[in-house]
Amino acid sequence: MQPREVLTLSPRKVAYLKFLHEKNSGARTGEIAEHFAVDPSTVTKAVGELARSGLVVHQRYLGVTLTEEGQECAEFLIRRHRILGLILTHYGLSGEEACREVERFESYVSRDAVNRMCHSLGHPTRGICGSITHDSRCCSLHDGEENV
Ligand SMILES: [Zn+2]
Ligand SMILES: [Zn+2]
Repeated sequence: MQPREVLTLSPRKVAYLKFLHEKNSGARTGEIAEHFAVDPSTVTKAVGELARSGLVVHQRYLGVTLTEEGQECAEFLIRRHRILGLILTHYGLSGEEACREVERFESYVSRDAVNRMCHSLGHPTRGICGSITHDSRCCSLHDGEENV
């Protein structure tokens, strides 16, 4: 399975996927709306789009759950957040500031760039706000290799 290019995901969808991953079970759209303090209709719309792209399933009784591809994608989104966070703390930001700052721009950083930064940091397993899991694609990067 070719990993999905994540640049097509809006910051809002990124936040929802990370939320579903951390929740580790189904979430009702009303619950998501409450968590992010947004109108339920905006959540329903975003969830519909995520379902059409195969990242979540929305069932009446179980609520919204991640598909296998959605799970992989969410793990990457969390790694992206934490790798970028680590980089900012190397340049003088506190952990809390780095988390907040990264949330402003993380959605615009490509998978390839994150994999290369991850590699150059030596695939760290601890981020500021939690652990970092790596996939075979980032770990198969070798020095001097431009792309995978
Ligand atoms: Zn964070
Ligand atoms: Zn890595």
